[in-house]
Amino acid sequence: SLPTIFVITPTYARLVQKAELTRLSQTFLHVPQLHWIVVEDSPHKTPLVTDLLVKSGLTYTHLHMPTAKDRKLQEGDPSWLKPRGVEQRNEGLRWLREDRRAQPGGDNQQGVVYFADDDNTYSLQIFEEMRSTQRVSVWPVGLVGGMKYERPVVEGGKVVRFHTGWRPSRPFPMDMAGFAVSLKLVVANPEACFDGEAPMGFLESSFLQGLVTMDELEPKADNCSKVLVWHTRTEKPKMKREEALQAQGLGSDPAVEV
Ligand code: UDP
Ligand code: MN
Repeated sequence: SLPTIFVITPTYARLVQKAELTRLSQTFLHVPQLHWIVVEDSPHKTPLVTDLLVKSGLTYTHLHMPTAKDRKLQEGDPSWLKPRGVEQRNEGLRWLREDRRAQPGGDNQQGVVYFADDDNTYSLQIFEEMRSTQRVSVWPVGLVGGMKYERPVVEGGKVVRFHTGWRPSRPFPMDMAGFAVSLKLVVANPEACFDGEAPMGFLESSFLQGLVTMDELEPKADNCSKVLVWHTRTEKPKMKREEALQAQGLGSDPAVEV
C-alpha cells in the first residue's frame, strides 16, 4: 500500500483563515493516502476550524497549542522578528510519535511527514515526489527568501550546496516547504523538534541537524530543477469600509462566517 503522507499545518485565526484552509483542504482532496494534522495556534479548538475539518472529506487530526505570549509576534512587529508556527509543528510531531506507539504492527511507521503552512501553494506533484522519501527528501521552493526560488544544488545525484540569497552557511538553508522526512526517522529520533529560540533562519536547521547530513539528502523534482511549491503570502484584507459602517451600526452580520 502507498505510504501515508502526514501533513502538519499550523494555523491561526484571522480574516483569511477560512479561505486559506479551504484552498489547502481542496488541494489535499486530490492527494491519495494523506492524513492532515491541523494544529491551531489557540488555547482551544475553534468552531470555524472544527466545522471546516468535519466537512472537508479528509482524514485528519485536529489539535491545538497556543504560542507562548512572549514568543508571539505582536501587531506591528516585522514578520521576521520571531518564527511562527513553532509550538504547533512540535505539537504535531508529539501527536504523531505517540500515535505510532499506540498502533503496533509492522506497517505503523510507513509514512512521510511534511510541514505545510496554510498560505503556501502546493502542486499535486510534490506529494508524489515526497512519497518515496527514505530519510529526508528535498526540492526547490519558489518565491521565497527574496528570490525567484531557493533550491539545493545537485551534482552527480547528490546535494552539494544550496542556492539561496542569504546565509548559505546555515546547516540547512531551506524553507519549511522544501523538505519531507520519513516517519521512521521522526519516530527513531524522539528529541528532534523545532527550536523557537534558534537564531533567525535556523529553524529548519534546528530540526534537520540531528536527523540527516547534507550528502544523505534525497533530491526530488527532477534533481531539484522543478518548482512544485511556492511560498505565497496572502495580503491582509483592509477593513476600512467595514469599520466605517460598523460605526454607524451597519457592519456586516457577525453571524455570517467568513
Ligand atoms: N502561524 C501560527 N501562528 C501565528 C502566525 C502564523 O500558527 O501567530 C502559522 C500560519 O498559519 C502558517 C505558519 O504558521 O501556517 C507560518 O506563518 P506565516 O505564513 O505567517 O509565515 P511566513 O510565510 O511569513 O514565514
Ligand atoms: Mn506563509
